[in-house]
Order: sequence, then C-alpha cells, then structure tokens
Amino acid sequence: MFEAAFAACGLEDWTYQRLPLPVELFEQTVPALRASGFVGANVTIPHKQAALTIADRASDAARAIGAANTLTFAVDGTIEAHNTDAPGLLAAFGGSVVGMNALVLGAGGSARAAVWALLDAGAARVSVWNRTPERAFELARELGAYATDVAVNAELLVNCTSVGLQRSASEHDALNQLGLSADQVGKYAYVVDLVYREGLTPLLAAARRLGVASVGGLDVLVSQGALSFEHWTGKPAPLEAMRRGAGIEDP
Ligand code: NAP
Repeated sequence: MFEAAFAACGLEDWTYQRLPLPVELFEQTVPALRASGFVGANVTIPHKQAALTIADRASDAARAIGAANTLTFAVDGTIEAHNTDAPGLLAAFGGSVVGMNALVLGAGGSARAAVWALLDAGAARVSVWNRTPERAFELARELGAYATDVAVNAELLVNCTSVGLQRSASEHDALNQLGLSADQVGKYAYVVDLVYREGLTPLLAAARRLGVASVGGLDVLVSQGALSFEHWTGKPAPLEAMRRGAGIEDP
C-alpha cells in the first residue's frame, strides 16, 4: 500500500520497511531509525503505548486514547506521535456520526481508538461489549462510554475484536463469539469490521447478505495509512493507488 503511494507521488527513493521488534528493544531502536534517515514509523501491537511514551510531542487524540500508531521524526531530532486509527475509522465510515448510538465490540487498543473517535465526533451514546467484561467496564469508565454485557441495539456496530481473522470459524461460530446472531446483525444500519483478511469476514458477509451498509477492515487500513502518509510526506495521500495497493477491488 505505501509502496504504491510513494510511486504514485513520485517518491521513488522512499521505502516502507517491516521491522519486527521485541518490546525490550523499542526504546533504543526508534531513535536509531531516525538517525538512519527514516522520516517516521507506523507502530503496532505491542508498541503503541511505548510509542506515546517516547515521543516529545503527541496529538490530543493520541494522548486521550493513550496510544500512538504513527511517529514522525522532525529535522530537529524530536519525535511526534499521532493516532491515525481514530480519524481513519471515521474517514472510512464516511458519514456523520453526530447524534448516533454505536456499539463497539472489544476493549483492546483499536476499541479505545474507536470509542474515543465516535464520542469526539459527536456520537450520542457509545456502548462497549467485550468477551472479558471487566475490560469493557474499565474502557467505558475512562472514556465516557457505557459498558454492556449484551449486544444492545444501535445504529452503528463496530467490531474491534480479532474475531473473524481465523478463516476456519463458521459465520455462526464467529458471530456467536461476538455475542451476536445473524438476525441481530440485520438490525444495525451500519457495520464496520476492523478485521482485514483475504475475503469477507463472517461479520461483513452477514451484513452484506442482510443488506446492511458495511465498511471493511481494508478500507479502515487505507484511511489510517493515508493519514500517516500525510504526516510523513506533507503531501495529500493518493487514495486510489493506496486502495489498489491494499488489494481492494472496487466494484
Ligand atoms: P487487541 O488490543 O489485542 O484486542 C483484541 C480484542 O479482541 C480484545 O477485546 C479481545 O477480548 C478480543 N478477542 C480476541 N479473541 C476473541 C474471541 N475469540 N472472542 C471474543 N473476543 C475476542 O487488538 P486490537 O489492536 O484492538 O485489534 C483488534 C483487531 O482489529 C485485530 O484483528 C487488528 O488486526 C484489527 N485492526 C485493524 C485496523 C485497521 O486499520 N483495519 C487497525 C487496528 C486494528 P478480551 O479482552 O476478552 O481478550
């Protein structure tokens, strides 16, 4: 996706490299990246909190969410942290969430970003369901949402769990792990599934079959990646090239 974006913007000498990093090496490796000529980094599990901690400056969103997925290395040697998961989710959704009721499934890092993003963008009420209920209660308490132990009715359903990643699970089993039946999925007006993989996730397959407007994880990935691209390059992201690079086939 990023290689496609660099090519589309004439940044032929830019590369995006994957760097698996043990937790104990994060703090010393990031400044070394900057010294080696990198302009920034995307950061994923389990480094998103550490990314915020080592930054000299952080956006309000990253501070409120407590995690950063994008670092930029300034010419003066300082590190800036952003969270593009939150605005990326809203951009991929595309419409206004003002006054909307939403149910977020999950209580991990992406759920924190989703809950914060929805409330910040004006959602009326955000409920949080999680397999481990205590984590939903904690997240809801911290961010001003409502924990629930059942899949409550809402207009918007956002899956921020990793359920759906496993190709082996049937649709029934996958929805069951989320405390949902297919009938319930059909009652939401919009479904967003953050999970991305080859082919449709069980939640997206159910939503599409039932005529529910849906947004998939690859669309969210492109939206958050586009915002990271803009932080690093200062250029508008070439969204179509990034969508093709991510393997999204437009109808
Ligand atoms: P995380 O912090 O590890 O959280 C995982 C969540 O999934 C937890 O709430 C966990 O519940 C739940 N979970 C895991 N297995 C489950 C199961 N069998 N049944 C029910 N719940 C289960 O992960 P994350 O960073 O939030 O990411 C979650 C998913 O979103 C991942 O698949 C990730 O790839 C995807 N993601 C996509 C994007 C994108 O741009 N599209 C961005 C970020 C994340 P417990 O608390 O009970 O363990």
